[in-house]
Amino acid sequence: MPGESAAGERRQNRSAYGHGEIVVTTNKEQLQMRQDATPRGLGTQTTVFADRARNAEIWDVEGNRYIDLAAGIAVTNTGHNHPKVIAAVTRQLERFSHTCFQVTPYDVYVALAARLNRLAPGPSPKKTIFLTTGAEAVENAVKIAKKHTGRTAVIAFSGAFHGRTMMCMALTGKVVPYKAGFGPFPPEVFHIPFPIEYHGISVEHSLAALDTLFKSDLEPSRVAAMIIEPVQGEGGFYPVPPGFLELVRTLCDEHGIVMIADEIQTGFGRTGKLFAVEHAGIEPDLMTVAKSLAGGFPLSGVIGKADIMDSVDPGGLGGTYAGSPLACAAGLAVLDVIEEEQLCDKAVVIGETIRHWAEQLQSDTRCIGHIRITGAMCAIEIVTDNDAERPDAELTKAIAAEATNQGIILLTCGVRANVIRFLPPLTIGEDLLIEALEVLGRIVRNLAKRLRVSAE
Ligand code: PMP
Repeated sequence: MPGESAAGERRQNRSAYGHGEIVVTTNKEQLQMRQDATPRGLGTQTTVFADRARNAEIWDVEGNRYIDLAAGIAVTNTGHNHPKVIAAVTRQLERFSHTCFQVTPYDVYVALAARLNRLAPGPSPKKTIFLTTGAEAVENAVKIAKKHTGRTAVIAFSGAFHGRTMMCMALTGKVVPYKAGFGPFPPEVFHIPFPIEYHGISVEHSLAALDTLFKSDLEPSRVAAMIIEPVQGEGGFYPVPPGFLELVRTLCDEHGIVMIADEIQTGFGRTGKLFAVEHAGIEPDLMTVAKSLAGGFPLSGVIGKADIMDSVDPGGLGGTYAGSPLACAAGLAVLDVIEEEQLCDKAVVIGETIRHWAEQLQSDTRCIGHIRITGAMCAIEIVTDNDAERPDAELTKAIAAEATNQGIILLTCGVRANVIRFLPPLTIGEDLLIEALEVLGRIVRNLAKRLRVSAE
């Protein structure tokens, strides 16, 4: 049993942790300890505890192996512990781990910023600032937009997710569980419907809502920024309809509004381009990036048009850990790997494999209402009897739970909690992906049948 040897080894290593800490060796023990030591509000998708991870596989503390279709929520696009990323971080660790860029700046920060400025879409000269989390990147993008325009309001979309800090909660377009009980939020944030044809919300509907907003609540000249995810992430993996980002770009230009593309989940090859806005051929004013930027090391950033980025006076931006040298070194290696291993192309191939699998499953069952594939940012929407209006959150949850039992790490999402999303590392081998999909196909077929029978 692989589990026995790994657990045994950890048991022997108990004393190595020292300092009176209790080292536990099974998922059950870890779960008990986690429940005692950490708050409920920190929800977890699975109850297995990671011990080791390589590329697209994770082993738990009992030695069980999982195929990773979550990539730590779109963070390890280059796979777990990519040797090039680890080598770059190790080299940097030998130089120094922290000086604070605002105290004693360092080369890897500047090199990564310069490289992202070159890679960001559009012809305008760019500048980049690094932070630590996605939410912090969003906070800073809004700060920069406000300072640049001298305006106060921000427009976001229903169903959006932009993070868990106060401003990000205000921008997020889903109340439970992200906002309920945490207000009041920073004022002057307005939501308009995100266009989703599958749910009957057309582009015209969204634009009409914006028009109404401008007529009844908010003059456009008070709007500092409009923030949009090119593919809504936590909201349910809904790509913007073709032409919509272009419309937002035009509207922002017309009214002097800063357009912020939140590429935190969509970035770094995930959708088949380095940045998802490239599909639309537009140049946002600011882009927020995080997650796969540093392949598992905490790093986020705002990449934007140089004149806008320079609106803030010295001291207005920054953070003690912002742009950690270890994470910047990782980021440079991540960009190398994306290029050398052609991960944007690979994302498209992964997406097509998942599409083929999902279409087959859709014709065999009546529970897959909609399939959404943007590169390797893929989702299936789980419904009853192919009816878009009958979301099946229970089946969705059961599929994800059974996936863990059968060795697959899988994430759900969606404002109605009925979307299964696929975010495998872009470095996943074809055999491993197919293995995971076959297991998952059996799970969906069995559960769909079983739940339907029990409902009858
Ligand atoms: N924006 C988007 C689009 C995201 O998907 C997320 C995280 N899921 C965030 C912002 C917040 O990032 P973080 O959790 O690193 O603060």
